Amino acid sequence: MCSYLLDGSREQPSSEQLEEQFARAMSKLDGAEGPLSVKLYTSGSFLDPEEVQLSARASILARLRNDQRIQQVVIESRPEFVSDENMIQLRNLLGEREIELGVGLESSSDFIRRICINKGFSTENFRRALETARAHDIGIRAYVLVKPPFLTERDALLDSVKTARDAAAMGVTTVSFNPVNVQKYTLVERMWSKGEYRPPWLWTVLEVLRQSRESLPRSVDIVCDPVAAGKGRGTHNCGKCDDLLTASVRLFSLTQEITDLGGVDCECLPLWRHILEHEDSSLLVHDDLRSNPEQRL
Ligand SMILES: [Zn+2]
Repeated sequence: MCSYLLDGSREQPSSEQLEEQFARAMSKLDGAEGPLSVKLYTSGSFLDPEEVQLSARASILARLRNDQRIQQVVIESRPEFVSDENMIQLRNLLGEREIELGVGLESSSDFIRRICINKGFSTENFRRALETARAHDIGIRAYVLVKPPFLTERDALLDSVKTARDAAAMGVTTVSFNPVNVQKYTLVERMWSKGEYRPPWLWTVLEVLRQSRESLPRSVDIVCDPVAAGKGRGTHNCGKCDDLLTASVRLFSLTQEITDLGGVDCECLPLWRHILEHEDSSLLVHDDLRSNPEQRL
């Protein structure tokens, strides 16, 4: 569902180009007062030397260190790059600042991560990365995917909440929910165009946030900034309640107050409840039936 491979097929940028791009982005903070939080979202692994050359990494981190306004730095990485060596470098270069590593756990189920997402690492790899980071007082922000393909709405809801609980039990500092959005030239787009995939309902996202907030310790932040919310390719409801509910999700991400979620009564709510109860079970299970239109459920 991710267009990363497509994005990455262009020519590899040079270290200088990355440093320039970073300097340009940072110049937007001119005049801003601290304390600031800087997130380096690379849509990949900042700590992978093939994606971000070591010279670019050192230069970017040094620039962050020299900016006294910056209190927190968040970077993204796959777990295999969370080594003692890399954590020591981050600590040395960023000093006492709060550091969080965003890692795409997606689901705490190895089966779902392997079959539905094709991510290529295990929950055990994630747990080890978390412990390595923690030894250097570096936190982990777990990205959790809401409704990967091949899951029903109900299974997606259950999996997201369970993943948040499992991630909190392992010791993550933040859980960030990412509802799937349909990107171009992906398998998900193909399924979506044939009516075989629907991005998660906003009601599902709200319920995931509510149940997670109720069961996770307050020390773990829960955030969600949905892409393409209210649009056909993103998390959406009926069109009438989407804007207000999306705003409530964004507000909740700042306040962490369950009472900020929802607050809208819409006629599409009973339909969502009906789907949670009656939607056909997993497409994985019924794939053989689906090939015969006569028997399609
Ligand atoms: Zn509605």
